[in-house]
Amino acid sequence: MSQQDTLQRFLIEDSSVRGELVHLDNTWRTVLEKRHYPTPVRNTLGQFMAAASLLSATLKFQGSLIMQIRGDGPISLLVVECTSGGALRATAKWKGEPETEDLSELFGNGQLVITIDPRLGKERYQGIVELNASTVAKALEDYLMQSEQLATRLWLASDQHQASGMLLQKLPQETDEEETDDWNRAIHLAETLTRDELLMVPPNEIIRRLYHEETIRLFASEPMSFSCSCSRERVIRALRVMGPDELDSLIRERGNVSVDCEFCNEHYEFDAVDVEQIFASVDQIEAPSTHQ
Ligand SMILES: [Zn+2]
Repeated sequence: MSQQDTLQRFLIEDSSVRGELVHLDNTWRTVLEKRHYPTPVRNTLGQFMAAASLLSATLKFQGSLIMQIRGDGPISLLVVECTSGGALRATAKWKGEPETEDLSELFGNGQLVITIDPRLGKERYQGIVELNASTVAKALEDYLMQSEQLATRLWLASDQHQASGMLLQKLPQETDEEETDDWNRAIHLAETLTRDELLMVPPNEIIRRLYHEETIRLFASEPMSFSCSCSRERVIRALRVMGPDELDSLIRERGNVSVDCEFCNEHYEFDAVDVEQIFASVDQIEAPSTHQ
């Protein structure tokens, strides 16, 4: 059966448990075509990307969810962005050839930063917690408990072809014994899922295998895809912030100003005339007569 880039949400009927499965293949391979990552960096980034897909469906928002882990270890930065429309991009910064997959060893003193950017000039929401876990799944489970008071379990896996994940979440209701039993039973069944199954078996089939004794409500599956939101205009906006003096000195040193997108490798180049125009157009925008 062909694998697809999809997110599948489901509900275990008559219980207080919801779930999601995500499977990324083309999306993930597009990320891997842009850069060669050492295996532990690659696997951590893939798990983080699967997790961002799952969380984007959990946290209700419009716009963009940006998840970062930053630290002072072999990996200094991991970034995944997922829009409410299912567009994903991801990148990492690291040094050397890390040999461990333990999160606290990879990042050293690290922080998990989750930003929700509603765009359209609206205010961003940002949550930051100290990184205190050995896996991506555990770090995010802790985050969701601390900041959203949501009991959540995550299973994440990634290799050179695909990145997959499963999420179970206890619906925020008053707790009674029966609900706790439902929750424990759902987790217990999910624990039988192997890494290979998570990577290789389509989401709907995994749900069927794990919960064939329960009544499951499946929601419409949602497509996920790689997409980078960089553009020449966005780069120009960033260059304007640097100011004309810094850009002029770059032009004098190197003959041009070049910027590579760290997500998609798109190359943007500006010569002396372009730089002059960048600031000439600022004057025009600021002049009241041309204001739209
Ligand atoms: Zn880009």
